[in-house]
Amino acid sequence: MKRMHDYIIVGSGASGSVLAHYLTQAGADVLMLEAGKRFTAATFPQNEMDANAQLMWNGGMDMSRDAATLFIRGKVLGGGTIINQCLLDRFDDVALDDWRTAAGIDFFRNRDMERHYDAVESNLSLHYMEKADWNRNAELYVEGFEKLGLEWAPLRRGQSDCGKGNDCIVCLGGCPRKSKQSMLETFLPKAEKNGLKILSEFEVAEVVHGQQFVTLQGRHQGHPHSLYGRQVILAAGALGTTQLLLKAGVQKRLPALGRNFHCHPQWMTVGFFDEPVDSHKGAFQSVKSTDPRFRDWGFKLENVFAGPIAMSLLKPGYGFEHQRFMQRYRNMACIEVAVRDQAAGTLALSNKGRLVIDKPLSDGDRQRANRGNQIVHDIFSTLGAREIMTSPIQIALHLMGGCSIGTRASDSVVNEQFQVHGLPRLRIADSSIFPNAPGINPSLSIMALSHRAAETLLAEAGIAPSTSTTRKQEQQA
Ligand SMILES: Cc1cc2nc3c(=O)[nH]c(=O)nc-3n(C[C@H](O)[C@H](O)[C@H](O)COP(=O)(O)OP(=O)(O)OC[C@H]3O[C@@H](n4cnc5c(N)ncnc54)[C@H](O)[C@@H]3O)c2cc1C
Repeated sequence: MKRMHDYIIVGSGASGSVLAHYLTQAGADVLMLEAGKRFTAATFPQNEMDANAQLMWNGGMDMSRDAATLFIRGKVLGGGTIINQCLLDRFDDVALDDWRTAAGIDFFRNRDMERHYDAVESNLSLHYMEKADWNRNAELYVEGFEKLGLEWAPLRRGQSDCGKGNDCIVCLGGCPRKSKQSMLETFLPKAEKNGLKILSEFEVAEVVHGQQFVTLQGRHQGHPHSLYGRQVILAAGALGTTQLLLKAGVQKRLPALGRNFHCHPQWMTVGFFDEPVDSHKGAFQSVKSTDPRFRDWGFKLENVFAGPIAMSLLKPGYGFEHQRFMQRYRNMACIEVAVRDQAAGTLALSNKGRLVIDKPLSDGDRQRANRGNQIVHDIFSTLGAREIMTSPIQIALHLMGGCSIGTRASDSVVNEQFQVHGLPRLRIADSSIFPNAPGINPSLSIMALSHRAAETLLAEAGIAPSTSTTRKQEQQA
């Protein structure tokens, strides 16, 4: 006898964990499969090298076909939310209007999305990065912005109590303080309390959609395994979900599969100062640009920094010149430009079934990047930097699209019920459904869409969503 699950969720990141929470809260039988390992605040890797190797796909070294862009994505229980900065923004009208136009879906407007944002935010502790949270890198950013008459604002972060330590440098390798609002600290424990079963180190290799159920084949801790679900939710992220559907061989009936891939390519510019900046101490990111011209021009600026391994990758070459670069680690200030990329890339399979990411930079996106990088140069020059270097490496952290949402199978993959066109037992609400790049941090919106998807699934099953006990209600009690 096959053990049949009501819902199987593939992937435990921003989408999978939110879905698991709302489905289990309503009493559904849910199994979650995650390719990565399970860590806790106490067991996260102790250094940057181990964090890259143990928490990221391919050690954080996924490259585009032309080797120009580096893609980083989490492979760990909690997905990207374990290794991300947890900057949580709602989409503005610009992003939602563009989505409504591109996808033809009416709920992409603030008055419809608001209640989904409210619902997921009520499970999160949110904090605006106040002056007391800033390190010298953030102070320099603000000084530069104000000298040039540019508008800025504090970033909003998911964190509960980071305390006053200077150990934020480990945050992107998993938060040991249980402060960063990753899925491990927010939605997953609640879902497990409500009966969610999790198999970590389970990599799904194949999805077979049948009349009565979906079969998932994969390897659990290296051993072949098959599982069966009445409904399967692919929440493996833009790359993982698209790869699974491409492997399912449905591209002929879904010609848009693998298209519309976006990634907010970003560039880091380092300004070297005579006095120590110590950007590695305290919060890596605290402030962002809010200048309305930047939104029109298609980029945003944030202060940023990284551990020594990541910073060393920014400088091409080796030998004494590279050594001289790294010797000045304490003197580096850094600002990133993230572009709202207009030109879509494609995701496809090689003959060997490996994912091939094609994301060349269009002239327009290059111009957006150049304009942003020029402003960063102006900021560092105004502040008196001794030397300024924009790294040629394009980094992509926000991976979006490949299974975009829309109304027709001819130009989209998922419909407004989050159902794959023509495959009624397969659902997707993760970053792969983005119809284009919003130009805004995506994970809060992925959570909000996943809340909507859970409501849709429960309504179809005739189950009323349970009234949730939110963090706010818990605090009030
Ligand atoms: C360094 C970094 C910083 C970032 N900072 C921010 C930020 O500050 N704010 C923000 O909004 N966004 C940020 N992001 C992006 C954000 O983390 C992602 O957009 C978000 O996590 C995507 O959610 P998701 O559910 O679509 O996929 P993910 O969170 O990537 O989850 C997908 C999960 O599926 C698993 N999986 C994949 N394939 C399979 C398979 N075949 N079988 C089983 N499991 C599988 C993966 O291992 C992964 O755990 C950052 C990302 C990075 C890398």
